[in-house]
Amino acid sequence: MTDFAAQLTALLGPGAVIVEPADMAKYLTDWSGTHSGTALAVVRPGNTAEVSLVLKHAYGAGVPVVPQSGNTGLAGGGVPDASGRSILLSLERMNEIREISASALTMTVEAGCVLAKLHETVEAQNLFFPLNFGAKGSCMIGGNLSTNAGGSNVVRYGNTRELCLGLEVVMPDGRVINLLSGLRKNNTGYDLRDLFIGAEGTLGVITAATMKLYPLPKARATALVAVDSLADALTLLNRVQAASGGAVEAFEMMPRIFLKTAAKHKPDLMSPFRESPPYAAMIEIAATSDAEAAPDADGTLPIMRTLQVAAEHALEDGIIQDAVFAASEAQRLDIWRLREAALEVTNSVKTKIGFDISLPLDRIDKFVAETQMIVERYVTGAHLNPLGHLGDGNLHLGIWCDPEGDADAFKAHAKDMKESVLDLLARSGGSFSAEHGIGSSKLGEMSKYKDPVALAVMREIKAALDPKGIMNPGRLLPGL
Ligand SMILES: Cc1cc2nc3c(=O)[nH]c(=O)nc-3n(C[C@H](O)[C@H](O)[C@H](O)COP(=O)(O)OP(=O)(O)OC[C@H]3O[C@@H](n4cnc5c(N)ncnc54)[C@H](O)[C@@H]3O)c2cc1C
Repeated sequence: MTDFAAQLTALLGPGAVIVEPADMAKYLTDWSGTHSGTALAVVRPGNTAEVSLVLKHAYGAGVPVVPQSGNTGLAGGGVPDASGRSILLSLERMNEIREISASALTMTVEAGCVLAKLHETVEAQNLFFPLNFGAKGSCMIGGNLSTNAGGSNVVRYGNTRELCLGLEVVMPDGRVINLLSGLRKNNTGYDLRDLFIGAEGTLGVITAATMKLYPLPKARATALVAVDSLADALTLLNRVQAASGGAVEAFEMMPRIFLKTAAKHKPDLMSPFRESPPYAAMIEIAATSDAEAAPDADGTLPIMRTLQVAAEHALEDGIIQDAVFAASEAQRLDIWRLREAALEVTNSVKTKIGFDISLPLDRIDKFVAETQMIVERYVTGAHLNPLGHLGDGNLHLGIWCDPEGDADAFKAHAKDMKESVLDLLARSGGSFSAEHGIGSSKLGEMSKYKDPVALAVMREIKAALDPKGIMNPGRLLPGL
């Protein structure tokens, strides 16, 4: 054990500091298995005062600190580099719910609370925390805030940033900033809270947060709809928004290649249409009022009727080709399971390029068509998989080599193809990182595409708040 690890053990007790390589292993490789590193020690403080102690010592000794919550991040930001100089600071023991207020519609929770656990706890009190995505069983609110996570409900409720009212943060030198507040109006100078959201652990450690809650929807209507194009899907989305008074909670696109690959590799998932359409759009609307949630004379929920009528009109107008409605909660969950298997289905494709991008909604269709032309310039037989959260303009765009295709040619052109698509994206006013963040995997894009003055100001903020550069070095900001 190094002297530094021994000092931390003396401060926090042996249970809080792990130094055995076999015991540290699970913290040092990310969910995808793509990123891994080594560390002096894994440190698991149990409360904010202990986080403060750890950072004070790390700051004094100049030891880098890599914060980690659920370790489901997809950008390589939550595991240390290979130098072995850092400590990994795990928030997993800080999982207390400090307060839930049903009247103020807020909860104050520690950073290590698992997202799915928060869902269960508040739903038992008829409340709703809308942040939702496939990693909910493992990711934690500290990581959600630090990546400004998105997911499937952004179209109605916004990103994690929009759901956050206040934070408690430990600064690199150990000082604790208490910005925990349920206030919805608080104009008292610079909004420091927003600096730490999406900072990916480069400015300090988030130890607790006050988050917004909503009334638990009383009923939901969910459907899978067959559409020919992304432009038609967007028309459908806007029509359903208008018909439901903005009640669309999720609008997710699954292209034909995704549906076919899912049917082949995960046959237990639902296969909604006899023939896979060009796109299946998953649409869910939710009602919080009793009137919309009470079945009418023939047993149909008004909220479901709204969706069915909108779909019927869209069918008559040739905007959609078919629709399957969830007739029970079990069928609704089957539809969600199909969408949430996206990463597993994608991982079954051996040779591919992946993007997590966003565009203005009205430019997506053209961008995808132009991307198709770029791909065809380089390789034949590759498939475009524009999957994702269309409701908020976020595509998890994949370029997949056909299993029977020329993988060597695909790999030979992968770098150029990727660059051409990213250049097109920049010209189209899009972002090269919609929701997964920068971590260590998108530093090149950050250098090339981020506004240079914005990047310089970000570096100045980093230097002011973390002058010794101990917080998650080599992540988010190129060259630091
Ligand atoms: C199956 C699957 C589906 C996913 N779907 C989505 C999706 O739809 N939308 C989406 O946005 N993401 C998605 N993700 C990515 C990931 O789940 C999110 O980025 C999530 O918010 C990460 O949370 P975490 O607790 O795992 O953070 P970690 O992976 O532990 O950390 C992520 C980053 O935050 C920093 N960090 C962690 N905790 C703290 C803290 N307390 N203080 C300061 N810095 C901290 C880390 O250093 C790292 O840079 C998905 C991942 C998987 C595996």
